[in-house]
Amino acid sequence: MVDQAPGEGRIAPDAKVVPRPRPGVMDIAPYVGGRASAPNVDRVMKLSANESALGTSPMAVQAYGQAAASLHRYPDGAAQNLRGAIASVHGLQADQIVCGDGSDELLHLLALGFAGPGDEVLSTEFGFVVYSMVAKSVGATSVQAPEKAFTVDVDALVARVTHKTRIVFVANPNSTGTYVPCAELTRLHDGLPGDVLLVIDSAYAEFVEIADYSAGEALVVSSSNVIMTRTFSKAYGLAALRLGWCYGPPAIVDVLNRLRGPFNVTGPAQAAGIAALGDVDFLMSVQDHVASWSPWLERELARLGLQPVPSVTNFVLVRFPGGAPSAASTNAHLATQGILVRDMDAYGLTDCLRITVGTEEEMRELIAAMEEHLGVGS
Ligand SMILES: *Cc1c(COP(=O)(O)O)cnc(C)c1O
Repeated sequence: MVDQAPGEGRIAPDAKVVPRPRPGVMDIAPYVGGRASAPNVDRVMKLSANESALGTSPMAVQAYGQAAASLHRYPDGAAQNLRGAIASVHGLQADQIVCGDGSDELLHLLALGFAGPGDEVLSTEFGFVVYSMVAKSVGATSVQAPEKAFTVDVDALVARVTHKTRIVFVANPNSTGTYVPCAELTRLHDGLPGDVLLVIDSAYAEFVEIADYSAGEALVVSSSNVIMTRTFSKAYGLAALRLGWCYGPPAIVDVLNRLRGPFNVTGPAQAAGIAALGDVDFLMSVQDHVASWSPWLERELARLGLQPVPSVTNFVLVRFPGGAPSAASTNAHLATQGILVRDMDAYGLTDCLRITVGTEEEMRELIAAMEEHLGVGS
């Protein structure tokens, strides 16, 4: 190489040669989050992203503020104290926990570690759009099984497993607000080959107060192909900090620890997460609030002649029997008043809207605005 003349060996410049992304990447529809603003309104009521109605634990806010004193330091790349706190609250092994930049990052890393071109990644019709995004991002094919009554259908999922299937993603509770009982998840696991990874996304687990529900810890412990993902974005009200975690068998956890960025969770996020876990009273107040206002919202929507899907979470999916035009027009009307709910177009549910459980005041105002638009008397 020493004798090489300048420019020699270089490929001639060609205007038509440009960097091209890997196959699959351009098939990804960029994620569209819940709306946070509307034109011509000076106040918005954001009920579009299933965030916490009661904000954040004051203890977590304080810890976040204190973390400002060490912004010049790298965070603990192993998130040792945070993993320890999660382990003790949930009765888990700290070394089988991996923390992430939101659970979204962990879903991405699982796809990166276990699927690639030629592979299939299986999920359900209304699971979570991120599953097909992460599948495509690694060049795999996203396959979706139909649901029954907006609920995960285990038989339909198992029927779609092929020799190419590498990962099955199930949100439980689902993005529709429904859940499948523990026994159904076990039946799903029993129906999967041992080399297929079952990812149980329990982002809304904290809201579920039902005896036959489990976030999936027991399945993780009793098998070697199940991983559970969790988040601080919903019940803990820390969506802005991006903090998630997962619990899996040591071999799966090892893969994630090799793939993740060395400092993937910021110091302030770790500090706030630990404090949030310690504020049991705040979590309980959030749970109590949702336990009373989620059923209230369902009842009121039904009173307006709509079809709410029974929810075990902090949001309600509602179907408009009149079809897509009335869902879209209601959405538009609410937006003119600064009330932002979620359209479900990304899931093909154009005749539905999804509404986060907000404060009492927000819920009453929302229903009054819908009542006015739909012309239903109280
Ligand atoms: C909100 C949500 C998440 C959480 O994502 P983060 O990246 O942790 O904020 C994961 N899965 C589902 C189904 C969700 O609705």
